[in-house]
Amino acid sequence: GLPRDLIFITDPANRPVYISRAASELDPSALQQVLRTLQRSPLVTRGALALEGSGGPHRYAIDTLGGDVQGQIRAVMVAARLEGPLRGPTQLLLSMLIVSPVIILASAIMGYWLAGRVLRPLDVMVGEVEAIQDGRSLHRRLAVPPGDDELSRLGANLNAMLSRVERSFVALRRFTADASHELKTPLMVLRAGVERSLTHPEAPEEIVDALDGTLRQINEMTEMVTNLLTLARADEGRASLVLATGDLVPLVAEAGETAEILGESQGVTVLLELPERPVMAAIEAGRIRQLLLNLVTNAVKYTPAGGTVEITLAADAEHATVVVRDSGIGIAPGDVPHVFERFWRADPSRSRSGDRPGTGLGLAICQWVTEAHGGTIGLQSRPGRGSTFTVSLPLPGGEPAGASHAG
Ligand code: ADP
Repeated sequence: GLPRDLIFITDPANRPVYISRAASELDPSALQQVLRTLQRSPLVTRGALALEGSGGPHRYAIDTLGGDVQGQIRAVMVAARLEGPLRGPTQLLLSMLIVSPVIILASAIMGYWLAGRVLRPLDVMVGEVEAIQDGRSLHRRLAVPPGDDELSRLGANLNAMLSRVERSFVALRRFTADASHELKTPLMVLRAGVERSLTHPEAPEEIVDALDGTLRQINEMTEMVTNLLTLARADEGRASLVLATGDLVPLVAEAGETAEILGESQGVTVLLELPERPVMAAIEAGRIRQLLLNLVTNAVKYTPAGGTVEITLAADAEHATVVVRDSGIGIAPGDVPHVFERFWRADPSRSRSGDRPGTGLGLAICQWVTEAHGGTIGLQSRPGRGSTFTVSLPLPGGEPAGASHAG
């Protein structure tokens, strides 16, 4: 408990007239010590006493009393035990325990704030770099902070690098567009020539066979050149769509019929599921036709005999969804992110003219067409089990037409 005060009051003859309870419990020798101190000391004083056997060192104060009691009382002494040297460190420890978390918290907040302030320009720069994602945003430059610190030098260097990248990118794009454009005419002439020779009444069988093969190659090359031109123009932002409101149902039906014909020759069953009502969307029909054709020919092409291809069209208030699901060879998980890349093919050893000819441009076109319509294209696949391509296109009814009347 609390240390109890020792109180002594003496009369002018230096005899104790009052001793507090705590004081009366002192050792006799300690009491003697106190009384000796009282008698010896000047009338106003402070000091320390050892008080052996009574709880160690005490601190005391002696004072006289003035006024009425003078003559009856000489002095009053109050003494109290010192808590010992332990109190200091304990209190220090206690205050440290309370104060240091506060200091740590305060400095953490301060540090966070400071780091945030220092890193904010860097953060802004990272955001700007992130925004430069493809060829179309390569013309953008970073806002370089003024001054000559690391950050502005980094910004300036990145900008210089962007300029170089943009120049080579533009050159590459121009070349692709020019080359594919220039190739179109000779290919057309070539095809016309081969077709004319094919229909020549006196052409021997083996020549016809050879010309047939040549024609197939020319057609494939024409398709590739056309696709390249489309993608190059899309990169340049020159391949804008001409949208018109059209029904998706006949387009999907048409793709389904093509798939059936292709499937028949390969032993692949094609199932088609269409909604009963028209699905009107803002589309460029030719591009959507190309998109659907690419997906269904792939589905049949990569499905071995005995498999199935399911083509479905469904619509809700906001989206039309075309799903092309096959039970074919599938795509390895590691390859899935790459299928929409240009010229990417799952097995590069497969020759272009082998059992599954192709250029690796089809899905890149599909992605461009979908995105140019404001839609999304996705792929789920398991090797050996099949692949599912899902195209989602926004419908103009997305924002309910009657909303303005209601409000
Ligand atoms: P292409 O079919 O001309 O090679 P695509 O861009 O259409 O080019 O497809 C790229 C690659 O993606 C194909 O080479 C093939 O490996 C893979 N792929 C596409 N569709 C399917 C599918 N339905 N099933 C399995 N693999 C597919």
